[in-house]
Amino acid sequence: DEALRSYPGQAIVDLRAMRDNMRRLVEMCVRDDGGRAAVMGVVKADAYGHGLIPSALAALAGGATWLGTAQAHEALLLRRAGIGPDRCRILTWVYNGHRVPFDDLIVHDIDVSVGSLDGIDAVGAAARRIGRRARVHVKVDTGFGRNGFTPEIFDEALRRLRPLVDEGLVDVVGQWSHLAVADSPDVPEFVASTDRQIASFHEFTRRMAQAGMRPVIRHLANTAATMSRPDIRFELTRPGIGLYGYEPDPSMGRPSSYGLRPAMRLQAQLSTVKRVEAGHGISYGRTYLTPDDTTTAIVPIGYADGINRAASGFDMQGARHVDKPGGPVRVRTASGPRICHVSGRVCMDQFIIDLHGDAGELNVHEGDTVELFGPGRGEDFGEPTADDWARAGDTISYTVFTCLSNRIPRLYE
Ligand code: PLP
Repeated sequence: DEALRSYPGQAIVDLRAMRDNMRRLVEMCVRDDGGRAAVMGVVKADAYGHGLIPSALAALAGGATWLGTAQAHEALLLRRAGIGPDRCRILTWVYNGHRVPFDDLIVHDIDVSVGSLDGIDAVGAAARRIGRRARVHVKVDTGFGRNGFTPEIFDEALRRLRPLVDEGLVDVVGQWSHLAVADSPDVPEFVASTDRQIASFHEFTRRMAQAGMRPVIRHLANTAATMSRPDIRFELTRPGIGLYGYEPDPSMGRPSSYGLRPAMRLQAQLSTVKRVEAGHGISYGRTYLTPDDTTTAIVPIGYADGINRAASGFDMQGARHVDKPGGPVRVRTASGPRICHVSGRVCMDQFIIDLHGDAGELNVHEGDTVELFGPGRGEDFGEPTADDWARAGDTISYTVFTCLSNRIPRLYE
């Protein structure tokens, strides 16, 4: 633990922010008919890098009554941590061929998804082996083109499910699907595409009813749709990114027009602070040449910690026309906070920032704590956010925290 605490970078996770974000999402989940949809906290991928168990507990404290994971082992970890069936339902959904431990999942009262014919056979076989009924959510492909039954294969899927239902091995409790472009509610062709997915979802419901299956839990909405499409909140919604305080597409509002607060702050302590002359090459490939006599500082976390190498900063002094600022870092100086940028390539264990000034005058020293991203508002207005890092690395905020490696300790407050 001591060694962990001495690591020169930390992700500090604000569990109250996460709980409050879930409260906001729960409040939002009023349906068009006045009823309320339940909310699943999506805690897959180690809760988007925030830490599976603490995040799951924060989501439950905020009013989530379901938890969702992509991979089966994370669902089992939740139950093993004492989050029992009396606390919440859990759904896990990725089908990895016959490697999915369906027996274990069923024993631990975890709902499972089927979206392929092999998946149906595997769940049925597991339920028969252990003599317990599996709770199944039927995944339909309404246009995402990933998991789920397409309309063409759906009759066959229903034919295979029927005997398992009749034998009492499978309870078809859910019907669900995933949206491709719900994060662009202002783009008419994307809204039309989501509308087509919704129409397809309803058509699948009709076909299930014809086959005598009426799942009582339908769910389609991720964070984006939870916010922008009250018409498809159904019985359950599945927000992920909103729980962590971000909006799926930063254009939906920055920092958040929905009252969400980013839960993670990533900080590091500077190592070597040193003076360099104008024209000094910085890092691999010499993609950054100091424009003036300046001071550089090392931020001792790198791509092995999950800092995106694509957020490297280039300034070739006009030589190759590839200038681009790297990811932002907030440094406290004598004259107040200043945003510096990754200068040169991100290395495996560290990167360099150009402080653009004299360290003594700026009052910046080895050991000073700098922030890579955080809530980015309130008292700390001006702090970069994961969206800023996403832009610098041509990616989305999701990857910024999901890719943080185990080397970065998660500290909870
Ligand atoms: N549902 C499924 C099937 C997902 O894969 C995800 C995440 O990618 C979510 C819900 C949550 O999405 P978001 O984080 O955009 O809310």
